[in-house]
Parts: sequence; C-alpha cells; structure tokens
Amino acid sequence: MNTPRMLPPRGQIRAGGQCPICGHETFQDYRERQYEYCVSCRAKARTRLTYLVLEKLGLLSPGAKVLHFAPEPGLRQRLYEIFGEGYIVADYDPKKLDGFNAGGKEIVDLCSPPGHLTNSTFDLLLHSHVLEHLPCNWALAFMEIHKALKPNGVHVFSVPMSAEWSRDDVDPGLSDEERTARFGRPGHYRKFGRQDFRNEAQKLNHLLGTQMIDAKKFIPKELQYAAHTSGNVFALTPRQPVGYMPDAVHIK
Ligand SMILES: [Zn+2]
Repeated sequence: MNTPRMLPPRGQIRAGGQCPICGHETFQDYRERQYEYCVSCRAKARTRLTYLVLEKLGLLSPGAKVLHFAPEPGLRQRLYEIFGEGYIVADYDPKKLDGFNAGGKEIVDLCSPPGHLTNSTFDLLLHSHVLEHLPCNWALAFMEIHKALKPNGVHVFSVPMSAEWSRDDVDPGLSDEERTARFGRPGHYRKFGRQDFRNEAQKLNHLLGTQMIDAKKFIPKELQYAAHTSGNVFALTPRQPVGYMPDAVHIK
C-alpha cells in the first residue's frame, strides 16, 4: 500500500528539466528553494541528485542487496521496483516505514550500542541528510553502519554543508529555538563544514580502507540541472577499483 501523494502547501509549480526518477517535467518550489519537489513522485532536489549518482556509478543493477536509511519518497518506490526483495529500509521510528513496499524493514537507532546490523550483508548503503540528526558521535555511528557492507560494497550519502568549519552540540538541554538558530532545524545536532569534512573523510578512509568520492562531479551539468540543487553526494568505495563501476569514477 502506498501513502497518498501529498504536496507541500506553498510554492509555485513550474516546468524545468526532467525528473531522473519518474520522468516528470514539473516541479514545485518550497520556501526559498526553487524546483524543490517533483510534483509526480515527490522526490526532493537532493533525492533526484542521489538517483543520478546511483545511475552514474552503476549501482542500480537488479539483484543487489541494498540498505536505505530514512528512505525518501520517490526514490524508495523506484528502488523497490529495481531491487525488489533485496531492498531493505531502516529508520529509528517504525511509523516512518509504514505504508510503502520494501523487501524488509529494520528499526535501527544509530546511536545505540553497536551490533544492531548484520555485518558484510549489503552491496549498497544509502542515506541522505541523516547524520545531522544523530544526538551522538556521527563518525562512530557511520563506521558502525559501514560494517554492514560487503567488502566490495559502496556507501552513498549526503550531508548538509555550510561554511568551512563544523559545529556540533548534542546537549539534550538545548531548546528547539536554539537548535534552529545554530543548526537550521529543531532536530539538527550539527552542521558540517567543508574543511572539517575533508579532514574527517581522510580519517574515515584510513580507518575503513576506503576512498571517498565527491560523486556529484561525475554528473554532467545538464543532468545536474534536472536535480536543481547545490547539495552534495559522496560515495565511499573500496580502494581497489570495483568491477561494475565506470572507469571514469575511480580516483587514481
Ligand atoms: Zn519525479
């Protein structure tokens, strides 16, 4: 059973580009963001960019086993069509997984003690704008979920990034107003900074034996237009080239 299609109440509907997920050509503005929602599949701009990256990296082969945290509208329907029973969704709140199809559903608190996922199970891990919501050390949670990947698996994710330096405060005593003022939303515990993130990516690569790719730069400009976003998408891949990924993607 699918949830009813709901669109945000504000914003102008306009034509522009083509949604890479469903092919529709009209989008709805939301707050200050133009072309934010696809009016057909409801994918946000950054979700459409993520789909372009998965396509470019050759990660949409049926038969793969996929773990998708906080699965977004539009993308989750499409990934279930592609991966079927191999498509597993996860969230900390079971209600957020109600009403749509998946091969399996996992309730996972990424800040809980380790061992909540089976190691070396998935070909692809996916999450977008999840790490800023964690009221704990995000890098430790990231390394923990990375263990769920098979040795040749790929970890694709995005984070909100602004300024050069990260800011982080997991104090539960901070009010919604303070969180909004400091991190942009009441449920956010941090903002990622470009310089800090580069340093953290190097450490993660060292600890996990991976290379982190700025995957957006492999998407041609004309296709990025379809996603209408300045957001980012990163991919952690094994250091050794993975056979099914295009040569151009491997950083030598
Ligand atoms: Zn769409």
